[in-house]
Amino acid sequence: MHTETVMPPAARVGPGADVLVIGGGIIGLVTAWRAAQRGLAVAVADPEPGGGAARVAAGMLAAVTELHYGEEQLLALNLASARRYPEFVAELEEASGREVGHRSCGTLAVALDADDRAELRELHALHLRTGLDSEWLTGRECRRLEPMLAPGVRGGLRVGDDHQVDPRRLGAALVAACERAGVVFHRSFAERLTVVRDRAAGAVLADGTPVAAGQVVLAAGSLSGRLGGVPEGVLPPVRPVKGQVVRLAVPPAYAPFLSRNLRAVVRGCHIYLVPRESGELVIGATSEEQGWDTTVTAGGVYELLRDAHELLPGITELPLVETGAGLRPGSPDNAPLLGPTALPGLHTATGHYRNGVLLTPVTGEVMAELLVTGELPEAARAFLPTRFVTRPAVAGSVSGGQGAARPTATRVGAGRPGVPGTAAAGPGTGGPGAGHPAAAGAGAGGPDIPGSAAVGRGAAGPGAGGPGAGGPGAAVGAGASAAPLPR
Ligand SMILES: Cc1cc2nc3c(=O)[nH]c(=O)nc-3n(C[C@H](O)[C@H](O)[C@H](O)COP(=O)(O)OP(=O)(O)OC[C@H]3O[C@@H](n4cnc5c(N)ncnc54)[C@H](O)[C@@H]3O)c2cc1C
Repeated sequence: MHTETVMPPAARVGPGADVLVIGGGIIGLVTAWRAAQRGLAVAVADPEPGGGAARVAAGMLAAVTELHYGEEQLLALNLASARRYPEFVAELEEASGREVGHRSCGTLAVALDADDRAELRELHALHLRTGLDSEWLTGRECRRLEPMLAPGVRGGLRVGDDHQVDPRRLGAALVAACERAGVVFHRSFAERLTVVRDRAAGAVLADGTPVAAGQVVLAAGSLSGRLGGVPEGVLPPVRPVKGQVVRLAVPPAYAPFLSRNLRAVVRGCHIYLVPRESGELVIGATSEEQGWDTTVTAGGVYELLRDAHELLPGITELPLVETGAGLRPGSPDNAPLLGPTALPGLHTATGHYRNGVLLTPVTGEVMAELLVTGELPEAARAFLPTRFVTRPAVAGSVSGGQGAARPTATRVGAGRPGVPGTAAAGPGTGGPGAGHPAAAGAGAGGPDIPGSAAVGRGAAGPGAGGPGAGGPGAAVGAGASAAPLPR
């Protein structure tokens, strides 16, 4: 592996850990596990390790179908991580004794109307220019692969290399692997970074306990820009980007409802459906700039079900088992911040935005290499946190005000005419569990709204959502603006 020296390896400073990782989402956990495997004494601070955005994420490993113009450098990192996945999974399952639901199923991306097809054709052209493997199919060929697709599907792309993993099981396996590797867990928030003689030297936890460490990794997801004690200009410019998802169950009698990941552009709106071997079917996702609000909204759920129904009319027969919202840690250029900061001893592993699950293997590898040798592997050099002149976190207050959220359904193209009255997942639809959402909100937002999965006809259309719908604790966000990407 080619490496670049960016700092001398840090020695352990007094009693304590070699490394303190702040944040036990999948990114902090993989960093901790890999560093511990290489002989470092590692501690993780997080009140709920294995939680975070991965509780909600769909788990597509979508280096190819997630390609966007201007993200070629990120593509290289995404592809590097995708290549590592099979070996990474084998090693993690062995180390943890748990399966992570890795499924090499490939992806089909389809289009519904002529404009959607034109958009997908553009993506195909970008794939070909970039040397990626993707094949254009007619609507009939798409339906041959996935017979449940609606007759209106106009064409699509078959991408053989975009697979899936179950992010919840990935998080649980990483916790178990860390425990077996001797990682110490402090089940608490870190409140302040400790800085001694201009060097990060650990953190003080929420209960006042100091944890000393030779090096600190800030991996607190969308909250990474809010840690106390980090000097101005060093805080990573990470913001929360809310995503809502719906989980259905495919009863054995209907299986296989879908046999690969399905992505689509439905009248300008992006949507995906990820079918797990367990029978779970994840439909996602909105993309909303709402601060730390994790409210599940009627409008968000309605739009997902409406578009999924246009694609796969049979979904209205499936039990609705869960709705949820999570926060992607977004960065200004949609790429992660990996490596040393301007403060000696402090590194970041954050800003993975919509690709954190995909980027888990490569992140663990490069961060462990940095922590052990002081050298940042070449694969990560384009993603140094110091590429940004940083300002304090951009979104609003975590504690937020009353009725401040202005919920908007902000998937790409929301605002184009929808199909009224097509979502029919109301109470009584499907079998057991229908209408009883167990919303799994992540992050520090407000409570989810009970009963919000009961979406009926006449629910809010594109871009709708009444004022004041955020519950107490909903954040005063940076304002609702349509984010460019769907997950
Ligand atoms: C709806 C949705 C769909 C997604 N789909 C996909 C997908 O299909 N494929 C993909 O690759 N990615 C996907 N993602 C993105 C992926 O889930 C994230 O990029 C990834 O989970 C980020 O992990 P993280 O560990 O950096 O942050 P988080 O998951 O946010 O974890 C951060 C952790 O830090 C802890 N923490 C915060 N502050 C502190 C503190 N001060 N002290 C201690 N602990 C702290 C939190 O408790 C949390 O556990 C999706 C995300 C969402 C929301």
